Amino acid sequence: MHTTQNPSSQPIHRQTRGNYGLVGRPLPADPASLIAPAGAEVGLGALPDEAQICSCNGVSKGTICIAIADGASDVSAIKGATAAGTSCGSCVPMLKRLLTAQGVELSKALCEHFTQSRAELFQIVQAAGIRTFSGLIAQHGTGTGCDICKPAVASILASTSSDHILDGESAALQDTNDPFLANLQRNGSYSVVPRLPGGEITPQKLIAIAEVARDFGLYTKITGGQRIDMFGARVEQLPAIWRRLIDAGMESGHAYGKAVRTVKSCVGSTWCRYGMQDSVGMAVQLELRYRGLRSPRKIKLGVSGCQRECAEARSKDVGVIATEKGWNLYVGGNGGATPKHAQLLAGDLDSETLVRYIDRYLMFYIRTADRLQRTAVCQETIEGGLDHIRAVVCQDSLGIAAELEAAMARHVAGYSDEWADVLADEAKLSRFVSFVNALDQPDPTVVFDEGGPRKVPVLLGTPRIGDTAESAS
Ligand code: SF4
Repeated sequence: MHTTQNPSSQPIHRQTRGNYGLVGRPLPADPASLIAPAGAEVGLGALPDEAQICSCNGVSKGTICIAIADGASDVSAIKGATAAGTSCGSCVPMLKRLLTAQGVELSKALCEHFTQSRAELFQIVQAAGIRTFSGLIAQHGTGTGCDICKPAVASILASTSSDHILDGESAALQDTNDPFLANLQRNGSYSVVPRLPGGEITPQKLIAIAEVARDFGLYTKITGGQRIDMFGARVEQLPAIWRRLIDAGMESGHAYGKAVRTVKSCVGSTWCRYGMQDSVGMAVQLELRYRGLRSPRKIKLGVSGCQRECAEARSKDVGVIATEKGWNLYVGGNGGATPKHAQLLAGDLDSETLVRYIDRYLMFYIRTADRLQRTAVCQETIEGGLDHIRAVVCQDSLGIAAELEAAMARHVAGYSDEWADVLADEAKLSRFVSFVNALDQPDPTVVFDEGGPRKVPVLLGTPRIGDTAESAS
C-alpha cells in the first residue's frame, strides 16, 4: 500500500474544489469557457496539483496523481493510498476521471462477486425474471456477496417489481436505513418523515404530526424538501408512530431510501401574481406518480410556476418550470458537494407530454446508471451525454420509449405504502425491536439531552450541553 504526501507546501483551503483551485492563478483557457455551461467546462486536467479533490480528507489532485503513478489502478487503491473518497464519497467520480486521464482502464465490474456493471445486471434481472439475490449470484456471480453488491442488487430488484423491500431474503440485503424504513441518526435513534406531496399539508395533518411529535417526545424540523422530519424515535416506537400517521391519512415519505424523495413546489398560478401554471397541482401529480420508485440514488424533483424559480427546480434531478405555453423540462440537477444546474431537455411541453418524458427519463436513468450514481453524473458520463438522452426520451432513438413507459405504468399500478404493508404483516413487524431476546426492552444506549434549547442526541462518552469540562471528564 502506498502512502503519499501533498507535493505542495502551500496551505490549501478545505473548501477548495473543482475550478476553485484556479483562484489566483493564470487562467488555463478562454475566460468565457470557465463560466460557460456544460460542454465548455475546463476539465480536471487544467487544475493545478494543489487543487483539492477530496475536501473531507484534504487530498489534492497532485497527491492522487502520485498514488496513480505509484501503481494505484482503481478507486479502492487510491482510497487506501490517500484516504481520498473514504468519507462522503462525492469525489469518487473525480477519482475515476483522474484514473482515466492517466490512462488507466477502469473495470466495469460491480464488485469482486459480479464481473458485470450495474446496468448489465439490471438487464439480466429484467430479462431473466430473477427475483432473488441468491438466484442472481448463483447464476451470474461468484461467492456470497458483499456490502457493495447486496444493496445494489436489492435496489435493482426493488426497481423491477412491486415486491416489499423487507420480503424474504431481501430484508438482509438492504442499506443502513432501509431495514427499519427510517433514517438512522447519530445515537442509534431514527427520524420519521411522512410524505407531503408537493409540500402541501392540511391543518388536520399538521395537528396529527404535532400530536405524534408531542406524544413520543420527538424533535421536529422542517426539511429542505418541504416536509416535516421528526427525530429521536427508538426503533420499537416506529410502528406505533406510523400507525398514528397512517390513521391520519399519511404514508411513508421514503426519506430513508435511494428512491424518489420529494417534489418541491412554489404556490404557482393559484396564489402568485406571476404564476404561469398550477405548479402545486403538477407537483402533487408527479409526487403521487413516482412515490416509492427505487433508483441507484435519491431522486428529487421540483416544479416552479414561472422563471423566477422559487422552487429551485433546476437544482433537482428533474426540474419543471412553467412557461406561457406549458412546461420546460430540465434534468440532471443536484445540490450537495458538487452542485449542478439541471439542463433543458425539452421546452413548452403540454402536461401529458411532460409526464411521458419524465416517465421515460427516470426509467432510462434507473436502467443505465452506475451504482450510487445520481442523474447529473449519469448524464455527464453516458456516451453521447445529454444529446443522447434527449434523443432517447424525446425522439425514441433506441425504440424503447414504449418499454420505459410500460415499466413506469407497472410501478404506478403496483405502488402500495411500505409502512402500511409493515403494519399489516406480523413477521415484518417483529423486526422492530432493540433486542430479539427482550422484546419490550428499549436500548439503554439511545439517550438524549433535553436540557438545552432543543432536544439533541447524546453519544455516550461525549459531553452533553451544559456539562462543564470538569463534569464531562
Ligand atoms: S416561481 Fe413564479 S409563480 Fe412560483 S412563487 Fe415564484 S414568482 Fe410565483
